[in-house]
Amino acid sequence: MSRRTDVVVIGGGQSGLAAGYHLRRLGIEHVILDAQATPGGAWQHTWDSLRLFSPAAYSSLPGRLMPAQDGHLYPDAAHVVSYLADYEKRYELAVQHGGWAHAVHRDGAFLRVETDCGDWQARAVVSATGTWTRPFLPAVPGRREFTGRQLHTVQYRSPAEFAGQRVIVVGGGNSGAQIAADLAGTAHLTWVTQRPPRYLADDIDGRALFDAATARRRALDEGRADTGGVASLGDIVAVPPVRAARDAGLLTAKPMFSRLTATGAQWADGTAAVADAVIWCTGFRPALAHLAGLRLRGSRGHITTSGTGSLEDPRFHFLGYGDWTGPASATLIGVGRPARETARQLRDLLA
Ligand code: FAD
Repeated sequence: MSRRTDVVVIGGGQSGLAAGYHLRRLGIEHVILDAQATPGGAWQHTWDSLRLFSPAAYSSLPGRLMPAQDGHLYPDAAHVVSYLADYEKRYELAVQHGGWAHAVHRDGAFLRVETDCGDWQARAVVSATGTWTRPFLPAVPGRREFTGRQLHTVQYRSPAEFAGQRVIVVGGGNSGAQIAADLAGTAHLTWVTQRPPRYLADDIDGRALFDAATARRRALDEGRADTGGVASLGDIVAVPPVRAARDAGLLTAKPMFSRLTATGAQWADGTAAVADAVIWCTGFRPALAHLAGLRLRGSRGHITTSGTGSLEDPRFHFLGYGDWTGPASATLIGVGRPARETARQLRDLLA
């Protein structure tokens, strides 16, 4: 038998919690379903040395500042997990952990959410499933020929398991730079980026990215010209370990190789590198398999939204996947505003 509520939020990471905070404030009955057994979303699975690219206060969800972490301007992932666990408890958010939502169906006036732990009927669904469960690997020639180990950011934990090995790290974003810096003193590193690494100036960090995203949102809201977002500032926040490795000359990047071979990588100019492992720090895609078959995609194959709401069916909202659902919405500090908008729109829809 299905249980019934007004809104089912699928995903209980930071985006799902921000949604819960605002739904609760507006008195909207809801439940948050999260596949993980414990709070913290994807932050529970990142590599050991990961550091946030913004100070704690700039990594806060609505209503509660993240406390500073002793001795660190940029908190680590464990600190974020504790903060999210505390947040969930403090606001008595209705999170049900340990159940995977497989599919959502239209069912008369309701939406039916099928999960490992039985079905839910709801009048609206907020999808907040993040991207961590859907790593992206580019189609590179020879990828299947390579006989060494291949892993994605999501499988990397620490340099210890690569000690003395020849490792190619692919990717010029924050993950690529941080993992390359992590490995630099322990493994024989080759760092490969599609274009030369673009560091933000050392004295700016995620705060500047957030400010730029906020300025862009204001401009768009007020009908002014698009200010162009954050891409122009650079790709890599020079957090202290990245800065130290770069300044020690350990982070010199090569251009992208043209193919993998059985033993390593080959470049267009004929040079080659033998490798024991390739680590793909090549990003993620939104985890939306639970919405397959609902025909929410427009003619260009994308789910089209106005704000966070689906244009095809306003009972579906999306939080936290990136600029697609609002500038900076895939960050701790940035998800608060779209979460508030979502709750307001759902209040109007359900009225
Ligand atoms: P997630 O944390 O992935 O949470 C989604 C939850 O939904 C998970 O618990 C998942 O198990 C669950 N779920 C998924 N599918 C289902 C399903 N079908 N049914 C039930 N549950 C499901 N942001 C910052 O603000 N500062 C940073 O410094 C920063 N650094 C980052 C570094 C890395 C390497 C990455 C990848 C991202 C970083 N981000 C940072 C961006 C962003 O804050 C994180 O990606 C964050 O985890 C996104 O939160 P989320 O709640 O949207 O998704």
